Amino acid sequence: MSIVTHLINGEMRPANGRVADVFNPSTGKAVCQVELASQATVEEAIAAAKAALPAWRNLPPAKRAQILFRFKTLLEENEAKIVALISEEHGKTPEDAAGELRRGIENVEYATAAPELLKGEFSRNAGPDIDSWSDFHAVGVVAGITPFNFPAMVPLWMYPLAIACGNTFVLKPSERDPSSTLLIASLLLQAGLPAGVLNVVNGDKEAVDTLLASPDVKAISFVGSTPIAEYIYREGTRRGKRVQALGGAKNHAVFMPDADLDNAVSALMGAAYGSCGERCMAISVAVCVGDHIADALISKLVPRIKALKVGAGTQCGLDMGPLVTQAHLEKVTGYVNDGVAAGAELVVDGRDISIAGHEQGFFIGGCLFDRVTTEMRIYQEEIFGPVLCVVRVASLEQAIALINQHEYGNGTCIFTRDGESARLFSNEIEAGMVGINVPLPVPVAFHSFGGWKRSLFGDLHAYGPDGVRFYTRRKTITQRWPKRETHEAAQFAFPSNQ
Ligand code: NAD
Repeated sequence: MSIVTHLINGEMRPANGRVADVFNPSTGKAVCQVELASQATVEEAIAAAKAALPAWRNLPPAKRAQILFRFKTLLEENEAKIVALISEEHGKTPEDAAGELRRGIENVEYATAAPELLKGEFSRNAGPDIDSWSDFHAVGVVAGITPFNFPAMVPLWMYPLAIACGNTFVLKPSERDPSSTLLIASLLLQAGLPAGVLNVVNGDKEAVDTLLASPDVKAISFVGSTPIAEYIYREGTRRGKRVQALGGAKNHAVFMPDADLDNAVSALMGAAYGSCGERCMAISVAVCVGDHIADALISKLVPRIKALKVGAGTQCGLDMGPLVTQAHLEKVTGYVNDGVAAGAELVVDGRDISIAGHEQGFFIGGCLFDRVTTEMRIYQEEIFGPVLCVVRVASLEQAIALINQHEYGNGTCIFTRDGESARLFSNEIEAGMVGINVPLPVPVAFHSFGGWKRSLFGDLHAYGPDGVRFYTRRKTITQRWPKRETHEAAQFAFPSNQ
């Protein structure tokens, strides 16, 4: 069986350490293994990034951007190969995998604007005969730690922009689906990236803890679950690093009595069950304002959930593949059992699904709970599976209060035809990304992505303008060239323009 290893200083490393199996979730069988980097291997990657830094950060941004232009073309040319690897190891459908790759490519496109993005600010005559300007410098060696659910897109949120800004990078992808991430990184080398500017180490906690401990790693971008995000933020900032750590979610969609229900149901189907619910922006709670809309929503949802086309993630034309691992399947099934025990009404039960020819795959069908209440675990915790909970409230104000009380605040949306309700909702809701009749309000590459509350630890969101700020340090230079013959007395009062 092949072993996925590491890309360090421009070379693929031979395997010589601990390994873990990587599964095809549609068959339940291991397809390859991944090496789990030791502390020494990660330290080598950090050293390679550190050695590549001086030349890379001093390269004109336009030359760095030219490499990213070639990278974008290579990503497009290799789409089929990348999509096949994502589907094989993650389980999402090829159409869904192509969607994440294309969103990732949009982040590469944004990063090619580095010469424009890094232009500074200049003030002539900031004081008497004094000019002042600010410009943006690389932070240094940056580490990225990414989750399993977007093996192409989330790494592409990070390193294209980080290296465009002059940093060098060590990426630690998810050990559950590492192959597409490594292939994509190797395409960047093929595009002409100098050795050491981007390094990829596969691994687990040992690799992550080595990145956290290293004084040479100056900043960390993390995306994953909230407990690990909080750990990375705490340990990273304690050691003086700049950290942005994006965590988990419980995204609510509000259905107002005047919603265009047929379109809203279509939107909800994709947002709740697409990618088997394994998206941090998936809608997992439908908050219905009034029993009438709740009953109507459920009666339209039930036949559509029962008709979901579930099958091998490598096949085209399906709605949903399997969950990523056996352990995750057991976790999601456990939540469904828990919801039943807690008294929620399981209107559609996807637990007993079996896919002919793929009996060992990690499959679960779409599940729908009605009459979910806020003290239930299925409401409070992130399930990360195809499980939608309906909560009934009496007014928009109650819906807003409910959402604002939840510990997570990643994304949310409202379905309505009323501008006043939409405006009140978008003003008052405590979440970082809000959709109005848009179920998955994932910001485009030239905005920035991030949640509020326990969905993000740190100050700056990912990619876009906040990404540029995260991956750069501002330096402000104040300059004066006194006339040769002037003799000035010492000034002891603090200088000002007054
Ligand atoms: P995870 O937290 O288990 O893993 C994320 C990364 O952290 C992986 O690279 C993993 O190897 C590493 N890791 C895991 N346990 C660790 C430990 N104890 N110490 C150090 N490192 C550790 O997350 P996942 O299961 O891969 O991904 C799903 C989660 O990611 C969900 O909670 C989802 O909401 C979240 N997510 C959030 C966003 C966002 O933008 N907010 C985007 C995608 C996914």
